[in-house]
Amino acid sequence: MLRHKSFDNSGDLKKFLQVSVPSDAYCSCAFYEDPEAEMDRKGWLGADLIFDIDADHVPTCCEKLHDKWVCSVCDLAGKGFTPPSCPVCGGKKFDVNTWLCEVCLDSAKREAVKLLDVLRQDFGFSKKDISVFFSGHRGYHVHVESKAIRTVDAVTRKEIVDYVSGLGLDVFFHGLDKKRLRETSSSQSLPLGKFGWRKRLVLGMQNLIINAEEEKLREIGLKKNIAETILKNKDIIVKKWLNRGTWSAVRGIGFETWKKLAEYSLGIQSVKIDTVVTTDIHRLIRLADTLHSKTGFKKVRFPVSAIDDFDPFKSGVAFKTGAVTVFVSDAPGFRVGDELFGPYKKQKVELPTAAAMLLVCKDRAKVLKHNV
Ligand SMILES: [Zn+2]
Ligand SMILES: [Zn+2]
Repeated sequence: MLRHKSFDNSGDLKKFLQVSVPSDAYCSCAFYEDPEAEMDRKGWLGADLIFDIDADHVPTCCEKLHDKWVCSVCDLAGKGFTPPSCPVCGGKKFDVNTWLCEVCLDSAKREAVKLLDVLRQDFGFSKKDISVFFSGHRGYHVHVESKAIRTVDAVTRKEIVDYVSGLGLDVFFHGLDKKRLRETSSSQSLPLGKFGWRKRLVLGMQNLIINAEEEKLREIGLKKNIAETILKNKDIIVKKWLNRGTWSAVRGIGFETWKKLAEYSLGIQSVKIDTVVTTDIHRLIRLADTLHSKTGFKKVRFPVSAIDDFDPFKSGVAFKTGAVTVFVSDAPGFRVGDELFGPYKKQKVELPTAAAMLLVCKDRAKVLKHNV
């Protein structure tokens, strides 16, 4: 680790990287009076607000197929989501081999879209305050660089984290009140807000109800007869809701049902972020335009408005020429650019540099020959 460095210009930084050739490069989110001093003498002036969205924090259906973990203490191995502690020895350290998968990255992207919406709509940050990046591995980074946020302390940042992830949100404060539900409409029971969590909750519930099938409603804990009532009255519920805006709009749907629907909606609408990153006012974050050592892909910035069409398997590719012959031990099917590769099992194969690099970085292949 070469730390506590500062550079007067990007040329000096580039020269330093060319000479030291690190496997990963990070920069601080903080501003210091003296960046080269020891940690407690740097003189903290402020920090950008950073969000890290990683597929590791977004459960998907495919991680069972491609992620592996091995307990560092007892060597127990498993597939899928890494457990908080080893089921055999209780150890908390694991060797994790995750995969760069399209489904996982797509779900991470959906979280980023939700986050950008909260930052723009609820917090009022403008597009020019916000930079969004593909991390080079399994997720996205969102940086908010604004004077308004720079000197905000860790406790306040934790409040922002809680808001974004919907932690501690109580539906009571959004008008869902057991007593009031029986009364006629009052302004306080109005669920349709113009922005914020009230709007998100209602939109989430609307989506659920409009698209729901009985199985889905049963899955979130509704009784059969209630699920049937909802399905039968789908259109009326949504219409009355929009027109009258009260929780009590539909006969047969009571407090407990609304609560379950709201809590399900909360789970869908909340943004899954790495909470530790955002609250840390000294955080190191991967330097933009540098390679990620687990993939050979680069961290790249793209416009906020381009997120829907952003393709990490194209834009993240750093090496665009040449080919490498590798021996692949084991790899699922994957895509780089427009080309599909694999799956491979114990075989020799010639690949374009970026594809070979990915497998080698993921410890799934060894280089046999570098073909120029
Ligand atoms: Zn163990
Ligand atoms: Zn996946």
